[in-house]
Order: sequence, then structure tokens, then C-alpha cells
Amino acid sequence: MTEAASSMEKDSAVYKTLLESTKAIPWKIDWKSMAFEYIGPQIEELLGWSQDSWKSVEDWATRMHPEDQSWVVDFCVAQSQSGIDHEADYRALTSDGGYVWIRDVVHVVRDEAGEVEALVGFMFDISERKKTEEKLARLQKELEELSFKDGLTGVANRRMFDSIMQVEWTNARRNAQPLSIIMFDIDYFKQYNDLYGHLQGDECLKQIARLLESAAARSRDFFARYGGEEFVMVLPETDAHSAATVAERCRKLIFKEQISHEASPVSQVLTVSMGTATLVPSAEDKLMDFIESADRQLYRAKESGRNCVVHTA
Ligand code: GH3
Ligand code: MG
Ligand code: MG
Repeated sequence: MTEAASSMEKDSAVYKTLLESTKAIPWKIDWKSMAFEYIGPQIEELLGWSQDSWKSVEDWATRMHPEDQSWVVDFCVAQSQSGIDHEADYRALTSDGGYVWIRDVVHVVRDEAGEVEALVGFMFDISERKKTEEKLARLQKELEELSFKDGLTGVANRRMFDSIMQVEWTNARRNAQPLSIIMFDIDYFKQYNDLYGHLQGDECLKQIARLLESAAARSRDFFARYGGEEFVMVLPETDAHSAATVAERCRKLIFKEQISHEASPVSQVLTVSMGTATLVPSAEDKLMDFIESADRQLYRAKESGRNCVVHTA
């Protein structure tokens, strides 16, 4: 053996040792025969299939999650045919029927004439990374939900109200449809807390929120906690007359619950005051003014003795 040949043999032994001791799993596929020329022994530890069971691309394609199979195979074949290096994440099937997330990084090898000769690549176990990604996505979704939900009552919060209101306001203006809102404020709730305690006050708010939310009958009707013991209902495509009917229904629903409020100067049971506003918004109208007008009617309801509804003047 020449010195050069011997040194090359030593080199390739070094490379082989290196390749087979990394966590990434190296492989090579002959393009013409579509057969595995090589796959690292690490594959057996990761997926359970023995090293010599990887004979052709068929073995690779069939040992994959059915949902990933077609797009991964189509994608990899198309990229390889075009001679483009690529990578794909997919779930590889293990010999005991489980799945492991893999990132396959593929390099296209060409011969001197520029024809595709082989594919070489590395498979990486990315299951931990995927788990983290999934967990983050779950947390993100939870956080999004939480940030639009009132922590105590579970109904939509003020922030959600602001977003929905903006959308419905724009909609009503574009479609020249009436938009109504109802503002609710519990009567003498301070006295309720003073008499029954803050915790029971919290329970009472939950009960009222549940009740009023159930009174929003149409699918686009929207209900939120506006703040403290104040709630708001948005009624798209609803005129003043219908809004008044809904408000009266809400008042009766609460009265029917007969929640004791012995410290209330207006009734022996818990009552609510309401203000409504209805408008077909034009380009000159301001959303703020609209909300303020419902607030003004609510104030008038308080002034006129509470436990009643006052509508847009
Ligand atoms: P009015 O009939 O004029 O509305 O009288 P009120 O006592 O309801 O009005 P006010 O706004 O003075 O008081 C509201 C009370 O609601 C005071 C506050 O302690 C109570 N409150 C606000 N948020 C909560 C809450 O999350 N839990 C409880 N338990 N009480 C709350
Ligand atoms: Mg209040
Ligand atoms: Mg109040």
C-alpha cells in the first residue's frame, strides 16, 4: 500500500468513527437505485429498526407518520430532482409503533456532468425541541385566552370588549345597521360587600355574569365585564326597541334569581340599573361618544331610583 493510500484509509476510518459517534445520524442514498448505501448505526438506538433493515427509500418512506408521509416524500423527491439541498421535519415510526420527531437535512451530490448521483444527509432527533415548541404554543394560546378573559367571572374582559366594539362599530357604519349597547351596574353593591363580605360579593358577581351572559341570545351578541360591578352587552344589528326588550329581560332574570340584598335601600333582593344606547353610526360619529351616551343613561337610571332601564334620549 502506498503511503497516500494508507493515509487515506486512516482518514476514512477517522471520519467513520466521527460520524458514528455523533448524535446526528448520517446516511447516503444512491440516486439511480434509490437504495441506502449507508446509514449510521445510531439509527437502531433511536428508532429500533436495525441498521441493515434500511435498504431502499421505501423503508424510509413507510417508516413515517401517515400524516407526514405524502408531503415529506413529495417535497424531498421534488427538491432532490431539482438538485436543491433541503430539510424536512417529520415523525419517524419506531419499531415499537411510536413516533420520534426527526429533522432530515439533505445534501444533493452531483457527478462531474452535473447529474444527481446521490443524496447524503443527517437525521437529527428533534423530539425535545418539538415538545418545547408544542408547550410554548399551548402556553401562548392559554395566555391569549387569559388575556381576553376576566379572571373572576370567566366572561370576556374590558380589553376584549374594546376589540369587539371596534369591529362592530366599523361593521355597523359600513352596513348602515343599528348598533346597541347595554351598560349594567349593580345597585348598592358596596353595601352588599359590607353586609355579606367581599368573598360572597365575588360569588355574586360570578352569578350575575353567568346570568347576563345567558341573556345574550344571538350568536353575535357579546357580553363582557366592564370593570368592578359593571357589565356591558353589545348587540349588533339591533334597534332601540329590541335593545330595550333585551335589557328588560336581563332585569327580570336578575329579579327572578332573588339574591338577598338586605342592605339595599331599593329592594330586599339584588337589583341592577341599566343604560342603553342605539345608533346607526355615520362617518362623523365617535365610538367614545356612543359608549359615553350609554353611561349617561345608566347614570340617569341610578338617579331615577335604580332597578330600571333608561334608553338613549
Ligand atoms: P350604586 O347603586 O350607585 O351603583 O352603588 P354601588 O355601591 O354599587 O356603587 P359603587 O361604584 O360606589 O361601588 C361599587 C362597589 O363594587 C365597590 C366595590 O368594592 C365593589 N366591587 C368592585 N369590584 C368588585 C369585585 O371584584 N368583587 C367584589 N366583591 N366587589 C367589587
Ligand atoms: Mg359601579
Ligand atoms: Mg353599583
